[in-house]
Amino acid sequence: MKRIAIIGASHAGVVCGEKLREFGFKGTINLIDRVPGLPIQKPPLSKGFINFKDTELNNLYLRSNEFYESQKIHLMTGSNVRSVKRESKSIILENGLEINYDILILAMGANAKLPVNVPKRTENVYVLRDINDAVRLKEGILRGKNAVIVGGGYIGLEVASSLRNVGLTVDLIEIGPRILSRVSSQFVSEYLTSIHQKKGVSFHFSEIIEDILYSNSDQVKAVKLRTGHIIECDLLVFGIGVSPNIALAKDLGLSVIDGIKVNNEYLADDDIYAIGDIAFCPDRSAKRVESVFNAQFSATVAAASITCSPLPAQQAYWFWSDQYDLKLQIAGILPEPNNNRLVRSEVFTGKKEGSFSVWSWHQNKFVCVEALEDVQAYTVGKRILEQSIDITPEIIKNNSANLKNLLKKVT
Ligand SMILES: Cc1cc2nc3c(=O)[nH]c(=O)nc-3n(C[C@H](O)[C@H](O)[C@H](O)COP(=O)(O)OP(=O)(O)OC[C@H]3O[C@@H](n4cnc5c(N)ncnc54)[C@H](O)[C@@H]3O)c2cc1C
Repeated sequence: MKRIAIIGASHAGVVCGEKLREFGFKGTINLIDRVPGLPIQKPPLSKGFINFKDTELNNLYLRSNEFYESQKIHLMTGSNVRSVKRESKSIILENGLEINYDILILAMGANAKLPVNVPKRTENVYVLRDINDAVRLKEGILRGKNAVIVGGGYIGLEVASSLRNVGLTVDLIEIGPRILSRVSSQFVSEYLTSIHQKKGVSFHFSEIIEDILYSNSDQVKAVKLRTGHIIECDLLVFGIGVSPNIALAKDLGLSVIDGIKVNNEYLADDDIYAIGDIAFCPDRSAKRVESVFNAQFSATVAAASITCSPLPAQQAYWFWSDQYDLKLQIAGILPEPNNNRLVRSEVFTGKKEGSFSVWSWHQNKFVCVEALEDVQAYTVGKRILEQSIDITPEIIKNNSANLKNLLKKVT
């Protein structure tokens, strides 16, 4: 095995290249991405980048130019992959160039969704997935005053906080009865709602946009909700989730269930791996996971599998979100909302003023800790998950004043 091609040079693809070298792979690594320039970290795009706290591109790069050179990773950005031929094991780029591989790694992530009835090129309509989207949105923010955000998931909420920080009005439209309904406990969702309301965000729950009103110049000037309520705006931002980039995978005849189905080594089929947001690994998680940790972990497992190195131990899934000056850290995954009635959640206050953590059990099994400004609760909860320690709400309650000691007692 001499040549590895990775399609997608982002959180998963870059780490995979890095780990392949770390695990001793000496052959060619071609790391291909359609976005030009050095690959960029995504989390800061909805945070410091669009609220003008840190707009320096140098601080956003995943790795420096020297890294790719020293690791002999051939970075080919600005190269869109048009197709892959399985028989000849070759990748065809948009410009016609053909790249051969022995092992192919699909790390093409996901695309931001836009409702079908919204024209893609409307000047003041935005999504946020990559650096080009973020630069566009930042320019819109400089020109605009009033924003409507559709979607109360993490992206929508982080954009809302960034826009309030720079003084825009924000109306947030959420189709469900609460924010973060797919991923957080009721308590966290209500707490963050109240924070956003205090900061001036107006929420419209269980609502959808029925009509978009345009000015003569084809700019959105307002949205009309199902109730008939009209909200004027000069920015319309959609944060309504993503669709995994599976067109190539389908052409390759891979099994696709939401994402590309992979085994516990992230192998999708002979000589083809899929990692990061694009992959669905039922052996490790009941649903497809979108997070930096998952991108890095799946990349590490795939690199270990390719180089016949020991596979890393399973870690707890973790995620974070920054809104205003608050940090939320989550370890574990809450079950889908339709399973929520089987979930028991307990809230404990932390040591720092205003901090707390929510611990959740599904069918009596501890599954998730959500910690707001409470690093200790997050760290302890994550360790408990990773070591599969059988912990009850009563044990946490009795030890909530000193969680560090609890770890000593139970490990
Ligand atoms: C604004 C924003 C904020 C976020 N904040 C957080 C956070 O706080 N915490 C957290 O854990 N996660 C966060 N995430 C999620 C996290 O960034 C993703 O889970 C992560 O980027 C997934 O990495 P990936 O490499 O699998 O996919 P992606 O990052 O989506 O990268 C896929 C790459 O493939 C390339 N590509 C696709 N198709 C082709 C093709 N045909 N040819 C060539 N190249 C192609 C794309 O250009 C892209 O660069 C955030 C995401 C966004 C967008």
